[in-house]
Amino acid sequence: MIFPFPRAFEDRMKPALGAEWEKFATAHTQPPPVSIRVNPSKHNLPGADRIPWTTAGQYLNQRPVFTLDPAFHAGAYYVQEASSMFLETVVRQVTDLTQPLRVLDLCAAPGGKSTHLLSLLSQDSLLVANEVIRSRTSVLSENIQKWGNLNVVVTNNDPAHFQRLHGYFDVIVVDAPCSGEGLFRKDPDACQEWSTETAALCAQRQRRILRDCWPALKKNGVLLYCSCTYNPEENEEHLTWLAEQHEIEPLPIKTDPSWGIQQVRKENFYGYRFYPHRLNGEGFFIAAVRKKQDEHTVAIKSKPTLPSPPRASIDLLRTWLTNPGGVIFLRHNDLIIAVPERYAMDIALLQHELNVIIKGVAMATVKRDKFVPEHAAALYGGLQKDAFHKVLMQEQEARAYLRKDTLPVPEGPKGFALAMNEKLTLGWVNLLGNRVNNLYPTSWKIRMGS
Ligand code: SAM
Repeated sequence: MIFPFPRAFEDRMKPALGAEWEKFATAHTQPPPVSIRVNPSKHNLPGADRIPWTTAGQYLNQRPVFTLDPAFHAGAYYVQEASSMFLETVVRQVTDLTQPLRVLDLCAAPGGKSTHLLSLLSQDSLLVANEVIRSRTSVLSENIQKWGNLNVVVTNNDPAHFQRLHGYFDVIVVDAPCSGEGLFRKDPDACQEWSTETAALCAQRQRRILRDCWPALKKNGVLLYCSCTYNPEENEEHLTWLAEQHEIEPLPIKTDPSWGIQQVRKENFYGYRFYPHRLNGEGFFIAAVRKKQDEHTVAIKSKPTLPSPPRASIDLLRTWLTNPGGVIFLRHNDLIIAVPERYAMDIALLQHELNVIIKGVAMATVKRDKFVPEHAAALYGGLQKDAFHKVLMQEQEARAYLRKDTLPVPEGPKGFALAMNEKLTLGWVNLLGNRVNNLYPTSWKIRMGS
């Protein structure tokens, strides 16, 4: 229950919603729905309680303690608000997912849209997941690594830096920082902190973000703009501005009337608005436009800037992958990283122009001629699990592993082994004979459930 709404918010929304206002207000007295989106490369798609506008989204009838669920830490699912999963319907309708696409998720932390995009894009596509606030790149990097994809780069840049990549991206997603009116039910702080001034400041920031990233979109590329707020200043007005300033084609999206999504039809764009009294989700807005003006394209260098590891290392690392075709290995000091071969030059370009935090999947660190496997490799969906000894852990032991507790010594050979819960990999252990070295990353360890 979050009453009362801020006065100025109510004064705007009441006339906008008319007879629906009471229902809208009543929806805010109900508990928010709990939903997850499963990782199709690690988990079965949901059968029951599916969220209708996405293939992998599911409502839960209660909120479990996600932190205590090993599957959550293995990247089997992402806890995400249902309305925002409509991104999938939009992406499927406005792009050709069978083609290799270069996609930028400009405001990416904590990674909801990025992990969703990774599940939708083909392995021949590349996702750049960017977050401007340095401290928020940790959670983004963690969620990206848990999701387990190779075709991804995480960056920490201001939107203006993407002007160095003229005409490079086929798709740009701007999930803008906003005044959060659509989150009032889920997050009472958003309601407390809201004011007309913060909404106006958000609108200015969003306009700057759009202006800054627009040159990085190629001709016929698609911009997806979304927010979790209702006010036109942070939504429709930006689309009107884009249409006035640039040559765009508005992109309508087919929706099922039973979904309860409101279409906003203006002269030069289509928008889609989600209200919590009309559907089982929070407030959300999304619009898609195609860029029609010419844009020159940044040149991609002809060779990678990072060296290859020695041949013997490559031969060994290839045995760690289920499908080594199309993967190359790069060396960054002692770290060996796997990246998609077709994007090696792109990664060199991105490294030159941007502050790259993660590229591809970190496989191993070389220490005195020995390979120490990297945590990201354990979570990678393309890891050949049969190449390793496995330590199967029931739920209690898996939690102990995730807390980085001391573990019982299992039977079996010495050396690095995969810590598994059911079919999911959690990370690595080093079996030393008389003890187990728990290699779960210290900064990721859970602090509850002992
Ligand atoms: N896309 C994310 C997801 O689905 O999990 C949520 C993104 S959140 C709505 C907006 C993000 O924009 C935040 O991570 C915030 O740190 C970032 N941000 C804040 N100021 C920004 C700016 N000036 N330019 C770009 N991003 C900004």
